[in-house]
Amino acid sequence: MSEVISVSEMFGKDVFNDAVMRDRLPKSVYKKLKKTIEDGAELDPSIADVVAHAMKDWAIEHGATHFTHWFQPLTGVTAEKHDSFISAPVDGKVIMEFSGKELIKGEPDASSFPSGGLRATFEARGYTVWDCTSPAFLKEDAIGVTLCIPTSFCSYKGEALDKKTPLLRSMQAVNEQALRILRLFGNTTAKRVNPSVGPEQEYFLVDRQKYLQRKDLIYTGRTLFGAMPPKGQEMDDHYFGIIRERVGAYMNDVNKELWKLGVPAKTQHNEVAPAQHELAPIYEGVNQAVDHNQIIMETLKKVAGRHGMACLLHEKPFAGVNGSGKHNNWSLTADDGTNLMNPGDTPHENIQFLLVLACIIKAVDRHADLLRESASDVGNDHRLGANEAPPAIISIFLGEQLEDVIDQLCDTGEATHSKKGGTLRTGVNILPDLDKDATDRNRTSPFAFTGNKFEFRMVGSSDSVASANTVLNTIVAEAFKEAADILEKADDFDLAVHDMIKELLAAHRRVIFNGNGYSDEWVQEAEKRGLPNIRSMVDAIPALVTDKAVKLFEEFGVFTRAELESRAEVEYESYAKSINIEAKTMVDMAGKQIIPAVIRYTAQLAGSISAVRNACPEADVSTQTELLLESSDLLTETKTALAALEDVNNRCAAMESGRDQAVACHSEVVPAMEALRAPVDRLEMLVDKELWPMPSYGDLIFEV
Ligand code: ADP
Ligand code: MG
Repeated sequence: MSEVISVSEMFGKDVFNDAVMRDRLPKSVYKKLKKTIEDGAELDPSIADVVAHAMKDWAIEHGATHFTHWFQPLTGVTAEKHDSFISAPVDGKVIMEFSGKELIKGEPDASSFPSGGLRATFEARGYTVWDCTSPAFLKEDAIGVTLCIPTSFCSYKGEALDKKTPLLRSMQAVNEQALRILRLFGNTTAKRVNPSVGPEQEYFLVDRQKYLQRKDLIYTGRTLFGAMPPKGQEMDDHYFGIIRERVGAYMNDVNKELWKLGVPAKTQHNEVAPAQHELAPIYEGVNQAVDHNQIIMETLKKVAGRHGMACLLHEKPFAGVNGSGKHNNWSLTADDGTNLMNPGDTPHENIQFLLVLACIIKAVDRHADLLRESASDVGNDHRLGANEAPPAIISIFLGEQLEDVIDQLCDTGEATHSKKGGTLRTGVNILPDLDKDATDRNRTSPFAFTGNKFEFRMVGSSDSVASANTVLNTIVAEAFKEAADILEKADDFDLAVHDMIKELLAAHRRVIFNGNGYSDEWVQEAEKRGLPNIRSMVDAIPALVTDKAVKLFEEFGVFTRAELESRAEVEYESYAKSINIEAKTMVDMAGKQIIPAVIRYTAQLAGSISAVRNACPEADVSTQTELLLESSDLLTETKTALAALEDVNNRCAAMESGRDQAVACHSEVVPAMEALRAPVDRLEMLVDKELWPMPSYGDLIFEV
């Protein structure tokens, strides 16, 4: 029998974590590093050499030959450039070296990363800077073992070129303001408030051989053509269904890889759509959670290859069945264990909680556009507002108990009681009665309170969760600051806080919605309430650069105006490029694979008609003739739509990059793509399966 390694032995084995540091660093160095990691104190650069040395020895003992500064540029994925530890040979011999300088600072030639004009090519310097709050880890794959050092990525002038730097800045902002709120309520012990995040990750698995036969999946991550099979997800038999063996073996492997990297993978299940699954880790500090989510995405893809499958992280790989998202569970936790989002059993008496809640409601209402923007990516345009994902309108679900407390406060000025959940009775004697949660769930809300955290459900499955959390942290920091500015000066704190909660709730109540977010009535109701309904990514991007956004982010030192403008620029560009690639892929597939297949099919039909007629002039060839006519008509439609798409796409691709180009792609190329897809999907239903040049939806999602 092979040796069994327990999960606790495996967990964090490849991480230069706290235990390893305590073990290997001199006490004084360890203490200084801890101060930065835990209290946010400035890093003392004099310790870098010692830490680097210990890190290198540890890594080499684990087989590492290289190190890399691991960073998160605005592409949304991670980047790495490997350097080996070898020194320049002396007498033909090398030693393994790694200095404090190399640990702290890297200088990738980074002119090819998107910077949205922040860095002209003539000043191409970019720096990666060690983030000691996220531990270094070892990546083991075919290349060998590499020491990965999480870093921020900045320009020569210190502008953030990545997703991590603004996130770290936003953590500082919310920490400072949240502590002011805690102090107001007499908490003198908490030293730090950190956002906690647990991102649930959805994904699809398909067979790799079939994946390789679909250029659309290879180039764009989603199917651009494909008729629905006779069965979709209507039976709800996949959700939480028995995990197939092949997928189970995959999940087992994924978990092990993640555990070794210290990622607390916890929950796995089949999702709603056939071939769709979910993985959720246990929540962690947001910086770590963001890094770990990147590792999760990478691991899901890597391990799929080993099992002869491909993992699709796209938000909408298949039209007609559910897409994938990421539920970003978010709360604020102090280092003394206080969860600021814990209402307790009697929320109406929990004034600190009510103030925090009122501030969050204000923040979300005021900056709904920014939250919506933070969840925008090209793929998510197919998901938000479709009948499965949260609608594109931001609203907050609070549940019956809190809604009732708010009603009491707004209607009578005082909240006197909290509804209880009561007892769950099943009517079966042998089953125990349970205490019920005070609130049922609501699956249709984009921003739902779920007991002791908020769940922001809009983020796309392929997107980094950094942007969403940067926005959440900052908008809530602002609301806390405005509250603390007034309350710290109040003569009668109790009265002032009571009045403030009432005022905030009354002013921002419009964003609370406990009903069905998927319904058409909600769209109309939301419009009446004046809530923005931002339907697409190109419509969402301007939110980044409004005066309101610039003021917010500059005040808290999270983004400068230039950094915001650069992000808008990068997003327009990435939108246009993605649509351009999708359009070109469709043109390629339709022109080189689909049209030739249909021509072969029509030739077969024509051959059959003449053959039958020759053999038996009285025979009825009306079916073949009808099919021939129908396919020929659709073939013409396809060819016309193909030419039109090619034309409009070339025109848009030639435009200067920026907002106009992205808008043109959205309003002209996307409809032209739909116009090409329509006849092709109908043809797929007519043409002999043997001749159809790629695996169907049925082949892909039911035969994994
Ligand atoms: P569900 O969404 O089905 O209710 P859970 O509540 O168990 O599932 O958790 C979903 C995710 O939320 C998990 O990643 C979990 O660790 C995380 N989570 C739980 N409590 C908190 C919290 N206080 N703050 C942030 N995330 C949390
Ligand atoms: Mg959830």
